[in-house]
Amino acid sequence: MSRSEKYIKKIAGFGKFRRVFSCRRFFCMLLLPLLSLCLGGCRGQNPSAQISDVGFYFDTVVELRLNGTDDQSLIDECFEKMGQYEALLSRTREGSDVWEINHSAGEPVEVSDDTAELIALAQKYYELSDGAFDITVAPYVTIWDFPDNPGKVPAEASIAAARIHVGFPLLHLDGNTVTLDDPRASIDLGGIAKGYIADRLKEYLVGEGVESGYINLGGNMLTIGTKPGDIPWNIGIRRPFGEASDVITTVRVDGRSVVTSGPYERYFEKDGKIYHHILDPQSGYPVWNGLSSVTILSDSSADGDALSTSCFVLGLDRGMELIESLDGVEALFITDDMELHYSSGFPISD
Ligand code: ADP
Ligand code: MG
Repeated sequence: MSRSEKYIKKIAGFGKFRRVFSCRRFFCMLLLPLLSLCLGGCRGQNPSAQISDVGFYFDTVVELRLNGTDDQSLIDECFEKMGQYEALLSRTREGSDVWEINHSAGEPVEVSDDTAELIALAQKYYELSDGAFDITVAPYVTIWDFPDNPGKVPAEASIAAARIHVGFPLLHLDGNTVTLDDPRASIDLGGIAKGYIADRLKEYLVGEGVESGYINLGGNMLTIGTKPGDIPWNIGIRRPFGEASDVITTVRVDGRSVVTSGPYERYFEKDGKIYHHILDPQSGYPVWNGLSSVTILSDSSADGDALSTSCFVLGLDRGMELIESLDGVEALFITDDMELHYSSGFPISD
């Protein structure tokens, strides 16, 4: 019997069932959940379908993969949302919330709920990381100008001059109002925004009934469920400074986020030294502490993003200590000698 014949037989059977128990209330009780399932849960669902697409947002390549649906409008809507987040959170885009904060000349600025939530989260990680994660590093970010810097080490004097305009205590968040005490202070959400956006996209997709897929924002990976057949996703972790396809190890996840921070993302080399985009808020210089990358495994990608940057700045010992103090978060630290250092609950691949 074909699938449609079986279906017709089921419907016919249901008709008979209804005639016997012609109780209207019982029928409504059955029909309502069925209806809501179809309206909210199975938009374009098709178990064998798979759609994917790539785009360019947040200065990086982004990729979406959805299983069990052929509804391209879900992907289109995600790209639409990415464009909106970029227009809201970019440091360089005129008129964005971040641009308005950075050009407020010390005056209070009203921001969107997303921006306020992100700044509150950034404050949490500033405190948790003992100042290693600090979105007020923006004056240094401007001076170093990655990824556009062609290889010019900034003058020591310009970094020293920026130092007095850096420090989270200069920033105040009160509801949706943001104030920077120092007109020359500024913020940069590059160390946390992609993770936050990935979380929001997943929220949207899951709300539309997507049960399997992933959101890859330039290596910030957030998975949804498992692969078809209940198989965990096997996420490759890049060999630092290797080719993009050179994987040093893999990690199996189902529904979790895998985020890596490493100097090899944006850097230049001069006189044998690597100058990169993860900056020490104390000195204004790139962090040189023997680490080549930090990967964080967590449920929330915003947490993973903030923690990968935080731990990279903290270094192996203090970073590992922070991870071990947190529930539901695991980490892999790779040192310059390509040794792998795992946190105690990390699901190590065999
Ligand atoms: P990626 O942007 O490659 O995903 P990260 O998540 O580690 O890498 O974020 C690095 C970015 O965060 C930098 O490009 C810069 O915009 C910002 N940043 C640099 N140093 C710090 C820091 N100490 N605290 C917070 N943000 C930082
Ligand atoms: Mg980060």
